[in-house]
Amino acid sequence: MTKIYYENDADFNLIKNKTVAVIGFGSQGHAHAQNLKDSGVARVIVGLYEGSKSTQKAKDAGLEVLSVIEATKQADVIMILLPDEKHKSVYEKEIKSNLKKGKTLMVAHGFSLHFKLIQPPSDIDVIMVAPKGPGHRLRATYEMGHGIPSLVAVYHDASGKAKDLALAYAKGIGSTKAGVMETTFREETETDLFGEQSVLCGGLTSLIKAGYETLVEAGYQPEMAYFECLHEVKLIVDLIYEGGLSKMRDSISNTAEYGDYTRGPRVVDKRVKENMKKVLSEIQSGQFAKEWMKENEEGQVNFKSMRSQEQTHSIEQVGKELRSKMSFLNPANKVSSNKEKVTVER
Ligand code: NDP
Ligand code: MG
Repeated sequence: MTKIYYENDADFNLIKNKTVAVIGFGSQGHAHAQNLKDSGVARVIVGLYEGSKSTQKAKDAGLEVLSVIEATKQADVIMILLPDEKHKSVYEKEIKSNLKKGKTLMVAHGFSLHFKLIQPPSDIDVIMVAPKGPGHRLRATYEMGHGIPSLVAVYHDASGKAKDLALAYAKGIGSTKAGVMETTFREETETDLFGEQSVLCGGLTSLIKAGYETLVEAGYQPEMAYFECLHEVKLIVDLIYEGGLSKMRDSISNTAEYGDYTRGPRVVDKRVKENMKKVLSEIQSGQFAKEWMKENEEGQVNFKSMRSQEQTHSIEQVGKELRSKMSFLNPANKVSSNKEKVTVER
């Protein structure tokens, strides 16, 4: 069995008297910085660029804000919580030259290190603490006295104590209350990309759209197609989340269950797994990372055009109309609205 680390497995003293720079104050950054401060880390600095809309938010939270260069200079531990596609440029310009022997560089996702977009010097420790959930949940759970699970991984252990510091950091953000699992940069990065591309984001949206289009093209009302192929996904997923495929199958009718066994594998047939294997091999070879970084260097032109194209799909129009009448979805009644980016299970 994989070892799971809890409160007593981590020594908070290893980080308590250090200066920690949290670079970025977005979804993850605001939660890490505030949790570490509330846990009693001696000095937490937030590193931001001139003119960031988050500077005031960080100050309002009682945090010290400095430029990325200055924060990196003054800190013992530097946690990069910038969007992954920005790690390379910010690292090159503002972080790299201020990484001195004895410092620790951290990330919350392995993308930039695993694909060698950043290549830190060999005399510093490089580690990952990756919370398995969006930042707003990380913060809210901490405030309630609990934690959300995290993954830890060591990329480079110059001091011989890199993993202990990772566990201390994980304790500081509250994760040892829920459980911390060790992984590698390769495993975390590749499984994360694969999951979001083939099942959670890419796979699911493609399945939903194909089902919706099939019904609409056959002459059924779009509203019916929306309910059957999109709205009800949540009801089914909630059951699977609570008790696996079996609990879901216990709750549905026998008719639905029989259709599941006999038709499901015909819709998602052998070819799907073949396609998934190709997607996985593009991740493993670095082809996906290369393509995505090229897209960024070219100003995200294709990315933005696909985004606006997708937003015009009729399932989005129909859904918008229907959801506006569902009072339980109204932001006013909903706590986890606004910026909470529900980034799949991380
Ligand atoms: P966000 O986009 O929410 O936040 C990014 C932050 O970086 C913002 O505060 C932004 O400033 C700031 N920023 C952008 N450019 C610069 C710059 N040039 N210099 C300084 N600061 C800058 O990112 P996330 O929190 O979603 O992601 C951060 C990392 O955490 C990524 O590696 C991601 O993979 C990882 N992660 C994310 C999870 C999630 O749930 N979102 C879950 C687990 C890991 P401004 O506020 O002005 O926009
Ligand atoms: Mg993920």
